[in-house]
Amino acid sequence: GEVTIRRALLSVSDKSGVVELASRLAKGGVELVSTGGTARALRDAGLDVRDVSDLTGFPEMMDGRVKTLHPMVHGGLLAIRDDADHAAAMEAHDIGPIDLLVCNLYPFEETVARGAGREEIIENIDIGGPSMIRSASKNHAYVTIVTEPSDYAALLDEMAENDGATTRAFRIRMAAKAFARTASYDAAIANWFAWGDAYTNELGPDALGATPFPAVMPLAFQRQAELRYGENPHQQAAIYVGQSAGAVGIPQAQQVQGKELSYNNYNDADAALELLSEFRGQDPAVVIVKHANPCGVAQAPSLLDAWKNALACDSVSAFGGIVALNRPLDGPTAEAICEIFTEVVIAPGADDAARSAFAAKKNLRLLLLEDLPDPRRQGFQLKTIAGGLLLQGRDNGAVVAADCKVVTKRAPTEQELADCLFAWNVARHVKSNAIVFAKDGATAGIGAGQMNRRDSARIAAMRAREAAEAAGWAQPRTIGSAMASDAFLPFADGLQAAVDAGATAVIQPGGAMRDEEVIAAADDAGLAMVFTGMRHFRH
Ligand code: 5GP
Repeated sequence: GEVTIRRALLSVSDKSGVVELASRLAKGGVELVSTGGTARALRDAGLDVRDVSDLTGFPEMMDGRVKTLHPMVHGGLLAIRDDADHAAAMEAHDIGPIDLLVCNLYPFEETVARGAGREEIIENIDIGGPSMIRSASKNHAYVTIVTEPSDYAALLDEMAENDGATTRAFRIRMAAKAFARTASYDAAIANWFAWGDAYTNELGPDALGATPFPAVMPLAFQRQAELRYGENPHQQAAIYVGQSAGAVGIPQAQQVQGKELSYNNYNDADAALELLSEFRGQDPAVVIVKHANPCGVAQAPSLLDAWKNALACDSVSAFGGIVALNRPLDGPTAEAICEIFTEVVIAPGADDAARSAFAAKKNLRLLLLEDLPDPRRQGFQLKTIAGGLLLQGRDNGAVVAADCKVVTKRAPTEQELADCLFAWNVARHVKSNAIVFAKDGATAGIGAGQMNRRDSARIAAMRAREAAEAAGWAQPRTIGSAMASDAFLPFADGLQAAVDAGATAVIQPGGAMRDEEVIAAADDAGLAMVFTGMRHFRH
């Protein structure tokens, strides 16, 4: 089980911590072998190092493309020490065993992320490094592999505890990590070929037969944290992040205070952020989310009013919710939010007054995120099913006023059209079937996730009535509102629900077999209706 480390090969791009590690190894009597840049760094620190070119008898050549690709290196890493044939081969060719490989790779991911040109990206595909890592990891029965500076301390501890040796358990643990690293490295390269280079090089995607859905999908995500539990306490969970440059999302947010985010917090906060991003660069807007559905959304000249109007939509559901705002938090708005129990608050910033208001609420998680994601960005959505997974492009389709086709005798007024589009932008973020009533830049009632559209409309209207009772308003805000439906109204009864709730305008995709009936019902009631031609199922 235990293998004493007598000779180490160090070849690292990220040189952090390597001098400290090497000097501790040298002190323990380990012979050091190293590649060009690493050897220089160690020598500069006064350490005795043997060049890998001395070991191989070949200079490092071709701009470093060929440094360690040599039997003296790979034989030393791969030989089964107690196999007679292997030992004879080592003897015959004067190959000395390498017991420890410390290696991290050319920064391919970082080079792509900073927008380097094609040639530089290609040059940052490490060949010798992954080869050595694979050799050492395969031969973990005898060889120790370390690929991360953050593991140097663990290596030194391990050797200190075992008289300069490592245990089998340690080597297996590190080998598993090393293969995960070369896998994610190759995934990043494959991703670049499939989704980056193919769309930008001079040949173009068609010549390369590129599709957004390559035959094998390489995933390169890094674990950011293990979570306390999943959707339920008996489920385990973790959060992973991709490596795409400039990603903006909940994993990138700065947490100012509060407990760690839970799995459900991430899920709900993401839903809030996606909806809020519809208001990127617009007037102050507030989104309140519960169980990944919005329960109140409003836009107003002041953030405080936006909060009040959003809350008024459904103050019952807002309890324990996630609040996302598109403006830095001020004291009065923070204090108003603190009047109810809130799990998470997301904003682009918070002034001192806001921070001290929240500080009193120890458990409230405050997340700061400077920018909002682009709601129209491209991307993928992944869903696992039994036996496989589904991948689709994200729903980044946009509907603007010019896309709205008036289908009724009466055209919507300017205010009605504005309410229609507001309701529409909220509805696309509500689980289907989605019905949203909105008036004057605020949701009046939201019906989510029902198995038929009429029930969603009934629930939305009922919420609006209860909100009016709670607030002591003379009438629900659905009176004179616009109603949005995320998919077409298949029957006139859905339209009748809008009429019954007092809506005067409807926005929906259109395209149902019975569109004529639905349009006639709208005309009979004097409603204005527009078709968007686009639907936004969300499940
Ligand atoms: P150094 O800074 O020591 O000159 O180079 C260290 C880097 O070279 C490491 O990231 C290592 O993975 C990489 N490397 C080691 N051997 C080879 C090789 O033969 N070919 C290529 N392309 N990279 C290598």
